[in-house]
Amino acid sequence: MTVVAKDESLEIQRLELGAFGTNAYIITCLKSGDSVVIDAPAEADKIIKRLEGTHPRYILLTHRHMDHIGALSELRSRLQIPLAAHPADASALSPAPEILLNDGDIISFGKVRLEVMHTPGHTPGSLCFKTGKYLISGDTIFPGGPGKTGSPADFQEILKSITSKILTLDDDTEIYPGHGDKTVLKKEKEEFVIFSSRQHPTDLCGDVLWLSS
Ligand SMILES: [Zn+2]
Ligand SMILES: [Zn+2]
Repeated sequence: MTVVAKDESLEIQRLELGAFGTNAYIITCLKSGDSVVIDAPAEADKIIKRLEGTHPRYILLTHRHMDHIGALSELRSRLQIPLAAHPADASALSPAPEILLNDGDIISFGKVRLEVMHTPGHTPGSLCFKTGKYLISGDTIFPGGPGKTGSPADFQEILKSITSKILTLDDDTEIYPGHGDKTVLKKEKEEFVIFSSRQHPTDLCGDVLWLSS
């Protein structure tokens, strides 16, 4: 079963694709049948199959990494719908995205409104997408820790993104990351409190876990 969340207005499907087990998400408005695809890791056929019976409107990208865009060219040419990404990650994409997204933008499809959150750190143009209590977090936050960072400065940046924009959301927010299963914000907040109560080396970065780093 690929449906990971469903309420009276929308449905979220998760497909785990490619060598890195990267998640693509499809959000469908149950009133109108309009849908969006978030990330295009691999296996365009499988994604397109899951879109059957819906009206695909946009391809949205959480960030530019290879494991999230392996099927992007094929998906764009077969679906013929606009691609949307943050300007800071868009330069890695060819052809350029039709839509550039910035913090606070709203993507509407059917009755669903998806809020764009710019959460740099994992990449400069990393985005999260939020609708109601559902947060598609890309590689910005996972169960147990932040996404991987390449330098201490990037780690400080992802920490700022997480503390200022994600940990401030409601406790019951469900987080759907770019790899693996979902988590609930309340649990991540509790683990983050433990992380922030300890001393850390100033050069901390890479794969960080709230409880053991
Ligand atoms: Zn990534
Ligand atoms: Zn990834």
